[in-house]
Amino acid sequence: MTRMIIAGRQVDAHDGRTIDVVSPVDGEVFTTIPRGQQADVDAAVQAARAALEGDWGRMTALERGRLLLRLGESVLAHHEELAQLEARDTGKPMSTARGDITVLARYFEFYGSAADKVHGQTIPFQKDYSVQLIREPLGVTAHIIPWNYPAQMFGRSVAPALAMGNASVVKPAEDACLSVIRVAELALEVGFPAGALNIVTGLGEEAGASLSRHHDINFITFTGSNEVGVLIQQAAAVNAVKCVLELGGKSAHIVFDDANYKLAIPAIVKGIVHNTGQTCTAGSRLLVQRGVYADFMKALADEFSKVRAGTPDMDLDCGPLVNQAQFDRVNRYIAKGLADGLTVVAEGGIADGVPAGGYFVKPTLFSAPTHDSSSLLTEEIFGPVLVAVPFDTEADAIRLANATDYGLLGAVWTENGGRQQRVARGIKCGQVYINGFGAGGGVELPFGGVKKSGHGREKGFIALEEMSTTKTLIQFYGE
Ligand code: ADP
Repeated sequence: MTRMIIAGRQVDAHDGRTIDVVSPVDGEVFTTIPRGQQADVDAAVQAARAALEGDWGRMTALERGRLLLRLGESVLAHHEELAQLEARDTGKPMSTARGDITVLARYFEFYGSAADKVHGQTIPFQKDYSVQLIREPLGVTAHIIPWNYPAQMFGRSVAPALAMGNASVVKPAEDACLSVIRVAELALEVGFPAGALNIVTGLGEEAGASLSRHHDINFITFTGSNEVGVLIQQAAAVNAVKCVLELGGKSAHIVFDDANYKLAIPAIVKGIVHNTGQTCTAGSRLLVQRGVYADFMKALADEFSKVRAGTPDMDLDCGPLVNQAQFDRVNRYIAKGLADGLTVVAEGGIADGVPAGGYFVKPTLFSAPTHDSSSLLTEEIFGPVLVAVPFDTEADAIRLANATDYGLLGAVWTENGGRQQRVARGIKCGQVYINGFGAGGGVELPFGGVKKSGHGREKGFIALEEMSTTKTLIQFYGE
């Protein structure tokens, strides 16, 4: 049984209720987490507020940065333990889990080193005035994070908030949160003052909803589904607090007839099967220029059909889906693709010997005749399902890439430099790769969406601005 962290202590829910944690690998319950509710959220927000008024609020940027760096070191010292927890909770292959923990440490390293590099400005104004623009923390920051990359999302959300001197309350996902709790324990061990970082576990509609509408928070960051994102923004509106939302995507690879297949094919396969396609930035659409469509799809199918799903210890290309609901959802989409008349060009396999109750699906590569032939080309599936469609001209490619409500990532594959720039600038999204694809990682790279993929930016230095506010000091020094 795992406990949450409130006010520097490991605690159960106030009424002792718990939630079963199910392993995606075999469908069996293997531990429980507290089912936090309003009273627990109240206690966590109060603890965060007290930390801001106390030791944590009095620390210098240098001291906060040192604590974050120490936490990064501690994550690395506990690397294997955290990776095992992450793999157990999510079912992901061990090497993916290990990579995720390295990225988690990197967030604390990056923002730990950045904490004391955030400078203010002076602004020329009227005669005999001195004007300073200083950066201040927002206050109590709320972080509602998803289950697909629990450790990474935690680092991405919380490290810049703490670096800027906020005190945080985190509501990790009920489906996967064990690594998050463990890192919060490590934070206490390395010396974070009580209340600076609180973790309340529980259901989205209970603990999550209580946190997002809490009257004493000053900021919310949320990564998850579109539907919940809208609820979060509504809750933020009631208290007039700022929110950053990252709500998924339907990112397209655009492959032109001069693309380097050797680069493109492995990246496209990895871009959809990594983390079993449960990645907001998954490259889940493939637009290929008509002249090379048949040839490219054949080469891609050869590679795609080698993909295997297995248990964390088998350490194959991907694992199971996270839970029964995801399993049903992805299977529904595969059935819908077939019903819509899409062609299955290739399928990956499920390794022999996976437990019968696990949520494993066969990664599937579809081909569609046109972009409007199926909702599989516009809706986020969140599974290892890639749909390809041919296009004719550069203008068509840009139009199709933009033909969904989402706008998170894009990728352009061509050797033509002018085309690289034109297409990259033409795609409406927050990040574009040219001759590469790197969903995940990229701690240094500003990230976020446009359209229904959300708003606000995380990662990189820009997150430090998102997670703080400015104050303008205007001083008259004349006589
Ligand atoms: P998914 O549908 O993929 O599980 P969600 O958007 O439901 O994604 O979940 C992302 C995070 O949002 C999780 O931590 C979940 O508990 C939380 N959540 C779900 N519903 C709500 C809600 N009504 N209010 C606040 N948080 C919620």
